[in-house]
Amino acid sequence: MTRPHISLHPRCGACGDDFRLGQKIVAAIRKSRSVQVINAYTFPDYGASDDTAPDIDWYFCRKPSCSQCNDGAADAATIHVDCYNLFRLHCNNNDSLYRLWLTATWRRPWHGAPSLRLFPDVDASKTMQLAATACSLPQLTAVPAEILHMIGEYAQPSPLGRYRAIIDLAADLNSQEQSWPQSLPLSEIASWERGGHAVVNESLHPIVRITIDCWGLKRIERLVDNPPFAGKRSDTEVYIIEAQERLRDVTVQFQSGLGRLDVPKDSVDLQLWDTPTPPSLESLQNMPRITGTTQFASIDLRKANALTFFVANGSTLAVHGHTRRRSHPETTFDRISRQRQRHAAWIYVPLPSKDRITHFGIRAPHKFTRSPWAAADYSYLFRFELAGDVIVGPRFLGPTQDFIWPVKEQLLLIFNVAELAAISAMSAYPNESSEITPFARLSKAPFQEACFSSAPLEGIVLLQIYSDAETGLCRGILAEYGNGSQRALGECRIGVDPVCTYKSPACLCFTQVTRNRSGTSIELKGIKVSSSYQSEHKHGEVGWSCFPMRGTLQLWFTNEQSILEVIVDEAELMPS
Ligand SMILES: [Zn+2]
Ligand SMILES: [Zn+2]
Ligand SMILES: [Zn+2]
Repeated sequence: MTRPHISLHPRCGACGDDFRLGQKIVAAIRKSRSVQVINAYTFPDYGASDDTAPDIDWYFCRKPSCSQCNDGAADAATIHVDCYNLFRLHCNNNDSLYRLWLTATWRRPWHGAPSLRLFPDVDASKTMQLAATACSLPQLTAVPAEILHMIGEYAQPSPLGRYRAIIDLAADLNSQEQSWPQSLPLSEIASWERGGHAVVNESLHPIVRITIDCWGLKRIERLVDNPPFAGKRSDTEVYIIEAQERLRDVTVQFQSGLGRLDVPKDSVDLQLWDTPTPPSLESLQNMPRITGTTQFASIDLRKANALTFFVANGSTLAVHGHTRRRSHPETTFDRISRQRQRHAAWIYVPLPSKDRITHFGIRAPHKFTRSPWAAADYSYLFRFELAGDVIVGPRFLGPTQDFIWPVKEQLLLIFNVAELAAISAMSAYPNESSEITPFARLSKAPFQEACFSSAPLEGIVLLQIYSDAETGLCRGILAEYGNGSQRALGECRIGVDPVCTYKSPACLCFTQVTRNRSGTSIELKGIKVSSSYQSEHKHGEVGWSCFPMRGTLQLWFTNEQSILEVIVDEAELMPS
């Protein structure tokens, strides 16, 4: 007999932190009036934990779009073992287990909702105050709140942050009165806020906006019309904006100040946005027909100081928008399955404040045969005032199409996100027509799946060469120019890989090497790159070529291979 599935959520229902691979977890399921807590073993990369005992009644499943999870998997909470134990120690009401189950499962806005991975709106300074007490360092609390907050941000996620989250949750649930469950059709609800009562009315505005944060349903409100795009976006909330008519079968359950949608299977496909005023899907260029409940994320290109695209076999798995608050792309990379991480190249595109991006574009292969709703392959086009045209990503065989957007006060890069799945739809907004000279076509890629990057050598005042800690081979090069613009080649994994920095280099030197993929006879191409302040110099090894800072560097790469070339226009070499 097949065992019923318990879907493993990627986050702990109690502390709200992401599970890490191998962390010990429990699952809590409701059985009539009681809650049963079962050992769910360790959090797996994909599928089931290897150590699940065969005599367990359940199959703990972490497979996106698993049909058996979709078909009536238990409404289960998954929780760190240590969070569960700590909570039990601090919350000892008769019904504390039920309250924990309710809080944890209702973090999902409806049973079967996708994992939204919303950041908690944490008060990091509270964690630091706890650290001051725990470590007997009262002077910590004398530090200005702004700095405490910054330290606390660095300490997230941390065991201390998790500890505080559980203590707070236990205190909250201890102090709350448990109320009876109640259910209302969404069509009757005029407004509701978490912690309060639903306001019911008969004549209601036709548009419903539902706000969801890391605790689940937060607010229900009514709007006269679809709100016009206003550009605001959030890392902590997502929004559903729909005509009441489409949500007619949806009801809302309420209990103890919490709310949860009841969305009958196949009744409606919901779209979740990280902006409260999303553009209409029909207005987005290059958007395939969307089916199924879909979460859209956006990155404001004028607010990010860099982008990192994670690309494997031509597909973009994820994009990280670097901002002051979210400077580490690892937080996005960690959400890709281990299996895919192994093949993902990190394509870094700096957006320095001294340069201005004027146009952004997506180059997509024509999809003659492929289903439009499969993982989509893109390369990316950027036009900068100072750095000029930057083209990054894979080169496609056959015809391609460019979609270009001018970047004015704001441009949101919009794409779908789904747990453990690649991006399959990408666009940008707002649309504004602009006549521009087309971006260049790329030459043929020197090896399969290679991604392109390039940068002029002239005018470089700072060169940073990133290398692989294991092989010592160059992974990427970041160039900064006298006018403040920047260009990146290959994989610049800032803060991850060792880096060598050269100020005002006189030349760039490299040698192409080959090695075998470990345990196989497959030959991989790699490069060693160095730089020098002197144009006349020698290398300890044979095979090095030295280039003055003239011409254009072209680096073709995947996450395990690279080929570097210097392209010099013959005309440049002619004496003037
Ligand atoms: Zn936890
Ligand atoms: Zn499943
Ligand atoms: Zn040299």
